[in-house]
Amino acid sequence: MLHTTYIEISESALRNNISYMRDQMSNGARYSMVIKGNAYGHGIETIIPVAERCGIDHFSVFSVAEAQRAIQAISPGGEIMILGWIDHDQLAWAIENGISFYVFTFDRLTAACREARRLKKRARVHLELETGMHRTGFSEAELEKMLRYVNRYSSCFSIEGICTHYAGAESINNYTRIKHQIKQFNLLVRKSAKAGIVPRYRHTACSAAVLRYPETVMDLVRVGIANYGFWPSDELRMNHFIDVEKKGMNPFDPLDRVLSWKSTVMSVNYVPSGEYISYGKTYLTNRDTTIATVPVGYGYGYTRTLSNMGHVLLHGKRVRVIGSVNMNMLVIDATDVKRPKIGDEVVLIGSQGELNISVSSFGDMTNSLNYELLARLPNHIPRKVVE
Ligand SMILES: *Cc1c(COP(=O)(O)O)cnc(C)c1O
Repeated sequence: MLHTTYIEISESALRNNISYMRDQMSNGARYSMVIKGNAYGHGIETIIPVAERCGIDHFSVFSVAEAQRAIQAISPGGEIMILGWIDHDQLAWAIENGISFYVFTFDRLTAACREARRLKKRARVHLELETGMHRTGFSEAELEKMLRYVNRYSSCFSIEGICTHYAGAESINNYTRIKHQIKQFNLLVRKSAKAGIVPRYRHTACSAAVLRYPETVMDLVRVGIANYGFWPSDELRMNHFIDVEKKGMNPFDPLDRVLSWKSTVMSVNYVPSGEYISYGKTYLTNRDTTIATVPVGYGYGYTRTLSNMGHVLLHGKRVRVIGSVNMNMLVIDATDVKRPKIGDEVVLIGSQGELNISVSSFGDMTNSLNYELLARLPNHIPRKVVE
């Protein structure tokens, strides 16, 4: 094996999750799979062909850089939408390649029109509206002026979308804020229609909104985290279990994890009681200890916060990370495992035998969210697709 660690991507898990999310939508809205953040750490180039085999033909990225990677991997007929960053000097590339993009400032709107005229090709734009998140989007006060511009230069544009984003649909804390955003969005869409602007898609829903606010589904959804088998929050997971129990069914988790992270034992040593392990003095053996070294460290996204805290699976047993996590290595306590040897599989995230290490248990310990942990998995770790 050339690499010290690899990530497995499960096609059947992805297929299951997409199908679950589609089942939550009654109206057959278009499904855009969000693949920003290197496909939530899964790898843009790896996930696209797998997703296509699961019936996905619309992908959302954050930036032009991600769109340029996506376009290499996508099949003819597939669509790419840029939700965030695109510089003026990249607009021509996006327009020429038929990639649609968010517009939330006049500056970008006029620049897109200029480029479209120069190229004699319409810019496919999504007009993002500010409805209460206060991040990006045209405000209600700017709406009329914006619509007037779009009408006046209608030959520049193909209005792919009118859209907005919710300020945390995964938490009850934001309930009234989200409800207000929905109302505000619908109001602004009506105003746009009165001015003659009707988009191909009205779109607002992320994973949490699809699951909890069915009225947000509209014509297209932008589903990210749920595709990968994670609930947007513990609260939504709990809500799901309560709903299922109310229906008299056994609680079960309908989402499957797509990603596993694995490595192998690179050395095994015996250390007597009363010795320190690895750098410094953070771990003192209190028994004769068998240690195994694993060639993964913080250089691979295995955070140093997991020093003396993390667990991995070896021979189907949960064993502790002892001592500090180094740049390229970590040490585990393999004393309770029968005859560990070089080359044995080590699971950092995923299942082995009956046991499972989830990103979220990992997340609780390091106080970061699923989203953050996943996005931090480096792209230099090779990805393997499995059924
Ligand atoms: C990230 C993102 C999504 C997807 O959110 P999930 O919670 O991962 O489903 C949807 N829309 C926009 C604008 C986003 O930035």
